[in-house]
Amino acid sequence: MSLLDTPLDGGCLCGRVRYRVDPGAVTVAYCHCTQCRRASGAPVSLWATVHPARWRLTRGALAWYAVGARAERGFCPHCGAQLVFRFTGQDEEIDVAVGTLDTPDALPPQYHVYTGTRLACMAALAPELPAWTDHGPDAPPPTDAA
Ligand SMILES: [Zn+2]
Ligand SMILES: [Zn+2]
Repeated sequence: MSLLDTPLDGGCLCGRVRYRVDPGAVTVAYCHCTQCRRASGAPVSLWATVHPARWRLTRGALAWYAVGARAERGFCPHCGAQLVFRFTGQDEEIDVAVGTLDTPDALPPQYHVYTGTRLACMAALAPELPAWTDHGPDAPPPTDAA
């Protein structure tokens, strides 16, 4: 976990959906799971996990895709860009797609999850970071919600 000290803005490819992440606790992880791969089309996804009270839309509205009964992915209904992921039935955390931030380098990756399904071509990606073959550390959710 690290502490974000300034707000971060982000948005989708077409610009119809914009959002802001407010300062506070954040964890940043590469996810190598097959669902993120299918949803993004990218060989690996990078997620910033924050308390949902610190993430809000500043323009437009999301469409949601339910992944079974367990989770849902929020995306722009116009351009299809995936912006957020959350487990359903909880209000403790939401994952923001770091690649959709205006300044993605503000949130450096801290660890890997689901390396059990990592692509061979991603094996050389940040080997110095801690890695979990499954969903990773059950970090306590940020409790600094305003
Ligand atoms: Zn869009
Ligand atoms: Zn994933």
